[in-house]
Amino acid sequence: MDFDALIRDIPDFPSEGIVFKDITPLLDDPEGFGAAIDALAAPYEGQVDRVVGIEARGFILAAPIALRLGAGFVPMRKAGKLPAATIGQSYDLEYGTATIEMHADALADGDRVLVVDDVLATGGTAEAAVELVGRAGATVAGLSFLIELDFLEGRTKLAGHDITTLLHY
Ligand code: IMP
Repeated sequence: MDFDALIRDIPDFPSEGIVFKDITPLLDDPEGFGAAIDALAAPYEGQVDRVVGIEARGFILAAPIALRLGAGFVPMRKAGKLPAATIGQSYDLEYGTATIEMHADALADGDRVLVVDDVLATGGTAEAAVELVGRAGATVAGLSFLIELDFLEGRTKLAGHDITTLLHY
């Protein structure tokens, strides 16, 4: 499957000089979307209890991956969005910081967890997600991304973890 043909470059979004990788053409193609979900889930067949999706585009991928793997889906959200008691983790952005949160009771001790997002860029978001999963007493079985921006070297923040990516730029 030529996934690259289903990803669109949007220059100067969200700010001048950034080329945003837009995955909406892939989502609009049932064959491509299905093949992407299969490829991201396949390495973890029988190996995960829960799939954590990172808001917002991570949700779109993580939910069908969880169904495919027969695992639970757990949302990891921006601060203040989840209704029950949460645990949170802050991480650095280019300017300032951000916080992601998960329900405090979302993961059980010893759960094997797959973390899913659309793009691995600097790795800050994924690193915070790994930290939160660990604080909940669960184990990261791996991380799956549709796209990895190799030049930002986000992978170095995830050393020792199994990473699956379908597209490298
Ligand atoms: P990081 O924390 O720098 O690795 O950034 C990853 C987060 O930013 C992910 O949640 C992505 O959804 C988002 N992101 C960064 N660059 C892009 C892009 O080019 N397209 C879509 N999302 C992006």
